[in-house]
Amino acid sequence: MQDNVDGWSKAVSAENANGASPQAYCLNCFALVPAERETCPRCEERAALLSARGYKEKLLHALFHPLAEVRMRAIIALGLRADGDTAPALVECALRHATDLVQGLEIVNSLSRLQAGGPCVPALHDLASRHPARAVKQAALWASRGI
Ligand SMILES: [Zn+2]
Repeated sequence: MQDNVDGWSKAVSAENANGASPQAYCLNCFALVPAERETCPRCEERAALLSARGYKEKLLHALFHPLAEVRMRAIIALGLRADGDTAPALVECALRHATDLVQGLEIVNSLSRLQAGGPCVPALHDLASRHPARAVKQAALWASRGI
């Protein structure tokens, strides 16, 4: 995301306490890799290519990140961008992590901001019908009605 360095996302800012070299997350597979590597040892993606991805593409990919905090940043950023074509990815993220209610409710907030100020009603209805958590279902329904 924004704090990437040479295609890797910073994981540990400086050297570790034990003097080991700095590490970062691969923006493709999210493996922890030595920051000085040019290629991810797990997925073999090149850092320079990852760095060239567009910001929206990076945000959408971050919805698959294993850390909830990283996913939450992407959810909030996508909501602020108000880009309607990101709605399906947000709905699927909520369904992949259905037990994370805080994330589910933030996705409802983000969906409410999509499409230049109006709620993204079809996506909110989709979320309300498919999400297993009552709190998320209800929030999605209310948001679709502008409540
Ligand atoms: Zn990788």
